[in-house]
Amino acid sequence: MRGDTDGIRGGSIAVVGGSIAGCAFARAAARNGAEQVVVLERTPGRLEDRGVGLCVHDDRFAELAQAGHLDDGIRRHRLTERHWVARDGAAGPRGRLLWVQPMPFHSYHWGVLWQALRERTPDTVAFRLAETVAGAGGDQAGAWVEGADGRRESYDLVIGADGYRSMVREAVCPEARPEYAGYICWRGSFPSEHLAELPGGAGVWPETEAITACFPGGQCVIYRIPGLTPGSTQVNWVLYGAPPAELGRRLDNPTSIPPGELTDELLSHGRRLAEEQLPPYWAGVLGLTPAERTFVQPIYDLETPRRAAGRLLLAGDAATVVRPHNTSGAVKAVQDAWAFENAWREGGSWAELLDSYDRERGQVGRELVALGRRLGTAQVGPHAPDWSAIDEAGMTAWWQHQVTGGGGFGGQALSAPPAPRQASSAAPVRHR
Ligand SMILES: Cc1cc2nc3c(=O)[nH]c(=O)nc-3n(C[C@H](O)[C@H](O)[C@H](O)COP(=O)(O)OP(=O)(O)OC[C@H]3O[C@@H](n4cnc5c(N)ncnc54)[C@H](O)[C@@H]3O)c2cc1C
Repeated sequence: MRGDTDGIRGGSIAVVGGSIAGCAFARAAARNGAEQVVVLERTPGRLEDRGVGLCVHDDRFAELAQAGHLDDGIRRHRLTERHWVARDGAAGPRGRLLWVQPMPFHSYHWGVLWQALRERTPDTVAFRLAETVAGAGGDQAGAWVEGADGRRESYDLVIGADGYRSMVREAVCPEARPEYAGYICWRGSFPSEHLAELPGGAGVWPETEAITACFPGGQCVIYRIPGLTPGSTQVNWVLYGAPPAELGRRLDNPTSIPPGELTDELLSHGRRLAEEQLPPYWAGVLGLTPAERTFVQPIYDLETPRRAAGRLLLAGDAATVVRPHNTSGAVKAVQDAWAFENAWREGGSWAELLDSYDRERGQVGRELVALGRRLGTAQVGPHAPDWSAIDEAGMTAWWQHQVTGGGGFGGQALSAPPAPRQASSAAPVRHR
């Protein structure tokens, strides 16, 4: 093993999970000169067809683009406004307009973003697919991962980028568990040209407009995203609400129900909610979604007291899960990689790197989780406003109340990166 005060050179890194955080961390480690970077991903094939839409705030994009973590070659769709609406028999089919909120975001297709990050990972990074990591551990001197067959591999650092049900987290802070927020979301997508089937067609809904349709106990967020084929778009929606009672009792352990695996009851529960609660045009939009492109995710909060222990580090959703109302999941994961890259450049040792990363991202993560809770409670919880009575002034005051107190809607602004560390004369790392 290398001495721990010599400046980090080379190094062997295992990244558990090859999704957004995994790709971003693997790239950051390779850019910093890690000698060996291995990504261990349990999924055998490509992940790109499984995701749907996500949004990135324009200011967060600009920071990450400047730092070389995102670029405008990744296809995205421009959004400018968010129309908050509610069903009202006297209003038109799009519902009563409560508020037009500026929305300086671009939307992404999850799979297009993932594919682009994957392609930008240097060839020196070894992706090992269909590799499920069954255990991880280590101490101040090194870390290991164990495969399903019990075989152990040793590394200088193991990064847990293995999502909200992280196995690496068990070794870093076993006491941290995702907490079910009390509601779920149905999600779906379909090609935008199908909007032509609706009365009024696609024209009544400008392409840059995101919608949030509010109702007691829930809401529906709808916006366009890039399609898998360049030049095409898809409609992406997320409908929040209470689950059928029987399912609600089983959600204490983190889970999700993928496309094609919804029971008829769960599918029709979501469809009924949309028909009864959304303004008719938006209920019609959801009605265009085939069953096999609809899935369900329970909503969880997860905060961790620490994101590093020994030579183990947590990244992305393994470290914190923020409710989707804050649209910060992908940004948070890529920002984690940015902080890791800076901490590496600045750190004189692995211990300093891990300390600095924990300091930089731990507090940010906890603030984001708190903001996600505030947004969820205010928007779909029992204290949500009376949508039939609230006006524009009420909406702006209500929003301001939610975002006061830290966090950052769409993710926090990055702090300035540290000055690059002076080159050290230390000998290169010896690998395990
Ligand atoms: C297939 C998929 C689709 C998604 N779709 C959306 C979406 O449409 N919209 C959205 O906002 N967010 C989506 N997300 C979540 C979003 O990517 C995250 O919130 C955010 O980008 C941070 O991701 P992450 O890389 O930390 O975790 P995740 O994206 O959850 O990735 C974790 C990865 O670790 C792998 N993994 C887990 N356990 C092990 C193990 N023991 N051994 C090896 N590998 C393991 C998983 O297969 C997965 O690829 C999706 C995630 C996935 C995996």
